[in-house]
Amino acid sequence: MSITKTNENPDSIVLEQQKEYMQKMKAHLSDLEQKTGKKQTYFLLTTGCQMNAHDSEKLAGMLQAMGFAESSSEEKADFVLYNTCCIRENAEDKIYGRLGRLKYYKKQNPHMKIAICGCMTQQDVVIEKLQKSYKYVDIVFGTFNLYKLPELLYESLETNDTLFDIWKEQKEIVEDLPIVYENPFQASVNIMYGCDNFCSYKNKSAQMLEFTGFKALA
Ligand code: SF4
Repeated sequence: MSITKTNENPDSIVLEQQKEYMQKMKAHLSDLEQKTGKKQTYFLLTTGCQMNAHDSEKLAGMLQAMGFAESSSEEKADFVLYNTCCIRENAEDKIYGRLGRLKYYKKQNPHMKIAICGCMTQQDVVIEKLQKSYKYVDIVFGTFNLYKLPELLYESLETNDTLFDIWKEQKEIVEDLPIVYENPFQASVNIMYGCDNFCSYKNKSAQMLEFTGFKALA
């Protein structure tokens, strides 16, 4: 007779899976460190609002749990991750400009992995542009599945394939991820997850434009 467990929380199973990937990554990075004699490092850029910054605290927490050390140099980092915002076109243009420079850095260091996530990648037009013009970006994921970073990074290292993993809605809410607080005296909590491209800032901007008659807000 088979027994079906009914009290298992699927979200906690998802968290356990990602913890296993963090351990696999830790072993992988430790091998690399022995081979290269160098600690593996990450560079994380955050361009958005407080919600985006809070997501970055979780991304940094996962990266450090995997064994990466933070680097202040984008050029020398082994893993570069941009956590983006799509509220202004010129913020997006700056990301494309920085991605362009990363192509050059990656030529100098072919083992460098590049990833982009956040609100920009929730837009179909951005995904098309990345697929067409930025083929050297290794991992693209969205706001609803940022907890999958350990799995995506591990898969990317194992297969060397380019990975796109964008969800249009929240499937699981994964709490209790490792976290590195930017400010030890201030902690943020999520009251919502993910971005549906219509964040309150954008809606306020649209209302202001309508009200003032201007075509764009700086
Ligand atoms: S698009 Fe909105 S929700 Fe996303 S990072 Fe920018 S301000 Fe925050």
